[in-house]
Amino acid sequence: MRLPVVEAVLLDRDGVVNENRVDHVKQWSEFNFLPGSQSSLRRLRSAGLKLGLVTNQAVVERKIVEQSQVEMIHSKMQAALALRSAEFHTIHYCPHKPESRCSCRKPEPGLAHAAIKALSVDPNKTCIIGDTYADAIMGLSAGCSYAIVIPSTRAPGSYDDVPPKFQDKVKHYSTLAKATDSIIESIKIFR
Ligand SMILES: [Mg+2]
Ligand SMILES: [Zn+2]
Repeated sequence: MRLPVVEAVLLDRDGVVNENRVDHVKQWSEFNFLPGSQSSLRRLRSAGLKLGLVTNQAVVERKIVEQSQVEMIHSKMQAALALRSAEFHTIHYCPHKPESRCSCRKPEPGLAHAAIKALSVDPNKTCIIGDTYADAIMGLSAGCSYAIVIPSTRAPGSYDDVPPKFQDKVKHYSTLAKATDSIIESIKIFR
């Protein structure tokens, strides 16, 4: 079945763009792009889609990684992606730990709201790709048209965590590359 047409794609970072690390990505040398992620980003971008990165980085408030270090990792990631015309149009992260009960830690919708605003797109013309159901809930709560969940090497949560009203908007794909094929296919006839 064809996916709804979107103009922007929000993506989780760890486990979607780069490998999850049990001990967290603390510096650029620990940031390893997942196979196929850079080419997927390039394909989405060259299809005319806006790309937003939305990531929980509680390591900041937990004092495991300095905020400036997270931003350094993102600027190096952007530079690496730019070499392949695959960089994000906007990046948003939540630095808070769960106990702080902020409005931006996924599954709260704050990061998706921020990215959608920065990209100046209609929420209904966006989708979210993550490796946990918290990613999906964040995006769908902010009005994303649908959510794609790919397999996680970490605790992905459960489909049962997704509010019933959102459940039929959650699609499962085996890889980011396959999700990318499907998203590009869905917008083809409009180009
Ligand atoms: Mg993740
Ligand atoms: Zn937050």
